Amino acid sequence: MPGEPQDDCLFCKIVAGQIPATIVRETETTVAFRDINPQAPTHVLVIPKAHYENAGSLATAAPELAADVLRETQAVAEQEKLESYRTVFNTGSGAGQTVWHAHAHLIGGRGLHWPPG
Ligand code: 5GP
Ligand code: ZN
Repeated sequence: MPGEPQDDCLFCKIVAGQIPATIVRETETTVAFRDINPQAPTHVLVIPKAHYENAGSLATAAPELAADVLRETQAVAEQEKLESYRTVFNTGSGAGQTVWHAHAHLIGGRGLHWPPG
């Protein structure tokens, strides 16, 4: 069932507290934690607590929850005192997606080139 926790999902395990993470913010519907392999001085992952495979399926099935994730990226950026930052959703292995639980990468604290690689 879309939205239900998946036994084999790393981020569902972080939501359940079964795997430790450095949590920077939590709401009723979302968790934000530091990426284990940061690509910038600030690299935080914002995820819905419910399991959806990627950003598009999240937004299709649960648009308010997708909005919660986006709102939280802004809240984390303010908490981290970032004036500029980038929000990235990788979808598909060709784009670098490795965890099949929707997540926003919030990246900042250094110069960010455009277009990205
Ligand atoms: P993706 O590659 O799917 O867009 O992003 C997955 C992210 O999760 C990667 O940036 C990776 O470093 C991060 N990650 C993988 N395993 C863990 C973990 O156990 N804990 C944390 N905090 N981040 C993880
Ligand atoms: Zn999951």
